[in-house]
Amino acid sequence: MTDALDHLLAVQDLDTSITQLEHRRDALIETSGLAAVEAELTRLEAQRADAAARAAALTATQKELEEQIAGITERRTAIEQRMYAATSSSGRDLQAMNDEVHHLTDRRSELEELELVAMLDQDPVDAELAALRDRSAPLEARGEELRAQVARDQLEIDAALAAAIGSRAAEASLLPTALADRYETLRARLRGTGAARLVGNRCDGCHLELSSVEVENIRSLPPGQIATCEQCGRILVPR
Ligand SMILES: [Zn+2]
Repeated sequence: MTDALDHLLAVQDLDTSITQLEHRRDALIETSGLAAVEAELTRLEAQRADAAARAAALTATQKELEEQIAGITERRTAIEQRMYAATSSSGRDLQAMNDEVHHLTDRRSELEELELVAMLDQDPVDAELAALRDRSAPLEARGEELRAQVARDQLEIDAALAAAIGSRAAEASLLPTALADRYETLRARLRGTGAARLVGNRCDGCHLELSSVEVENIRSLPPGQIATCEQCGRILVPR
């Protein structure tokens, strides 16, 4: 039975290691700093998308104005050609065409003014986009490094986990069925720890001290008898 209890403690220690390795694996993205870098990159990307949308709107406005300006230029040129060719037109027609040319010239100036404003508005947005790129670039690089680091750490943990799971199965196969069942039931109920060591007069499962009478009783149990911590109910193995 002493042997069985040694194997039981080995199983418990391996189960504790396995749980710790799984937690470490789950927390890698957070603990490596990758989560923080990803969050910052997401924030910068949202800002970039916003600035890019404003830049696109300004470009569209400029294109629209250019098209209008081109249309006006075309109409004015056509009227001017008609005026120069219009030897037989009446004075009134010529005046009307002249007025239209003036009107179109004024309108084109207004649109050119608007186009200039849109072009000037574009500069700070372009600067904003360039600044965002400057901030993202080193973070992207850091994110790449961290992703590679996390992947390496995951492989390392997976190897340790595979080894621990293998050893655990080997140790568990050496336990009497009743003891194994009792351990599993306790472990499920008591946050992963079903077996504890009695160290001095303290149970290392619940960390409480047992009375000296209780400790004496446990230490003098005949081989094959299994002790239980009176505080937490775990299987208690004197050590
Ligand atoms: Zn205890």
